Amino acid sequence: MSIPENGYRDNELARRILDRIHTAMAGLDGVRLMEVCGTHTMAIGRFGLRAAMPDGLDLLSGPGCPVCVTPGSYIDAAARLAADGVTVVTFGDMVRVPGKETSLESARAAGGRVIVAGSVTAALDIAHREPGEVVFLAVGFETTAPTIAAAVRAARAEGSDNFSVLVSHKLVPPALRLIQDDPECAVSGFILPGHVSTIIGVAPYAFLVDEYSVPGVIAGFEPVDVLAGIESLVRMVRDGEPAVRNEYRRVVRREGNPAARAVVDEVFEPADTAWRGIGRVPLSGLRLRPDYAAFDAARRYGIDLDEYELPAGCRCGDVMRGRMEPADCPLFGDACTPDSPTGPCMVSVEGACSVRHKYEGK
Ligand code: SF4
Repeated sequence: MSIPENGYRDNELARRILDRIHTAMAGLDGVRLMEVCGTHTMAIGRFGLRAAMPDGLDLLSGPGCPVCVTPGSYIDAAARLAADGVTVVTFGDMVRVPGKETSLESARAAGGRVIVAGSVTAALDIAHREPGEVVFLAVGFETTAPTIAAAVRAARAEGSDNFSVLVSHKLVPPALRLIQDDPECAVSGFILPGHVSTIIGVAPYAFLVDEYSVPGVIAGFEPVDVLAGIESLVRMVRDGEPAVRNEYRRVVRREGNPAARAVVDEVFEPADTAWRGIGRVPLSGLRLRPDYAAFDAARRYGIDLDEYELPAGCRCGDVMRGRMEPADCPLFGDACTPDSPTGPCMVSVEGACSVRHKYEGK
């Protein structure tokens, strides 16, 4: 079996797992496995795993790239805050993402203060040092929510009333349900996100089996981790015995991280939220609880985060649901490239379109 010779930690092990995947697929067709984590999307592209799969087995990218699913209205609102003199602190990937009217990059070029940071702590530090208003862009899935919740709790305890967060957190299980409820998606199994699972554990995925009879495997990010996850999924599909398995036990505990979930539960509550290109999904995100509403930038600045249309021609919503391949978008690689992106899936380094363009050219 042919696999790329560069980058695998253990080429021989990868080759053996790949052989087993090909064997397990004998007689099967139309198996569609979806990853819902941008880091998995990157690993699959970077290590050429898609091309190594047997005929009849497709690897799809789901709505797991946090930048891609953040609404355009959110980007525009954050850029307006920066233009109005608020210090906006953000994860780096957000800076180039176009909203409908503008981007953080444009706001910064026009003199707005947009600071890239690896964590919310930097925003809180600025709020401590300086008297001006500081807003942190609270995006991402269950993985980023705990530290942001802890920062909000600290801000309230310290009386840091010049600090707030603009919340657009998303939750993975409702995204999986959205995929499964869509007859155009037809996913056979999910490669479940390792990082998110360190927080939520295994139990929140049980509905995949109980309600949809679809298997899921929590996988790590080394190529052999992803391949082992794929092998496990193919076997479960073949045998008609769906289950949720944790194949990333060196990092993910069955119960997840209860302490992290406790701080999230204290500060946030589930809420309907808008997913870019997909629309509003019931209880698929987080918002600040009433006790912490004073730190809600949307409330403080009168921001409405409803979503609007994607740029003309952009099919990100269909790509992220597995309804179509990135290369089937008429703009892919022509009007839309990583250097000149039209839609959010081409902006983020973890976006499905960006990864396909960079590593697979299609
Ligand atoms: S190729 Fe560009 S325009 Fe097409 S779906 Fe992807 S991001 Fe959107």
